Amino acid sequence: MTAIITGAGRGIGAEIALRLAKDGFNVALNDLNADALAETAGKCKEFGVEAECFPADVSKHDDCEAMVKSIKERFGTLDVLVNNAGITRDGLLARMSEENYDLVIAVNQKSVFNMMKQVCAVMMKQRSGRVINVSSVAGLHGNAGQFNYSASKAAVIGMTKSAAKEFGPRGIAVNAIAPGFIQTPMTDALTDEQKAAILNLIAMKRYGTVDEIAGLVSFLAGKDSAYITGQVIEISGGLSM
Ligand code: NAP
Repeated sequence: MTAIITGAGRGIGAEIALRLAKDGFNVALNDLNADALAETAGKCKEFGVEAECFPADVSKHDDCEAMVKSIKERFGTLDVLVNNAGITRDGLLARMSEENYDLVIAVNQKSVFNMMKQVCAVMMKQRSGRVINVSSVAGLHGNAGQFNYSASKAAVIGMTKSAAKEFGPRGIAVNAIAPGFIQTPMTDALTDEQKAAILNLIAMKRYGTVDEIAGLVSFLAGKDSAYITGQVIEISGGLSM
């Protein structure tokens, strides 16, 4: 069984890769950063599975097409796709540049089209597969200063539900997860004031951890979630309810 994880060089993606390797999946690892990827691959191999690196920019359609072709040739079947790669370019709308709007949409949203188009074609022939798209609470509820990011993550939810309807008859389940605030390099960039304000809103009064996200992805990739599709699972310590 093969799992593809995008943005697996660090943060949530690296932890998802390790968890799926621990679950027994061979892992095809994507990121922009080849050195970071190699480190994740080394750790995955400690679980006795195959792990191979496929550095590529997931916002580029042709690069994704070539990457998925290589992964299929290398591993044979494509069983799980985790669309995790993502970026932020935060700022208030009035001051947001067109460049930062387009970049976030390309990396967070178009990448999901690029990867699902290629991978689901293979899964349809197999008549099985799981896709897990990493959205965000910002896509569900919006967030001041994240007009571009919220737009991209809300789109991922629409794509997830449409694909779940399209691919359900072929035995492919498509779900999204919506993490709240998780301790990673992405959230390390927030100011102390921003962090304090966020903690105040979280019922459990703490950030989530990458292994808590990886555990949810493991469930959605495994046999116990076989009858779940088209859902968005918020994992936020009670940020909203
Ligand atoms: P992170 O630490 O910044 O890691 C993101 C990874 O994606 C990095 O390794 C990055 O590579 C890679 N990446 C960026 N652009 C890429 C591209 N065009 N092609 C391939 N790889 C690319 O972020 P994270 O916190 O782990 O977030 C992972 C996902 O969870 C994202 O989709 C994010 O939006 C979502 N999320 C995070 C939180 C949170 O609190 N952390 C909350 C909700 C949702 P480089 O290192 O080379 O840039």
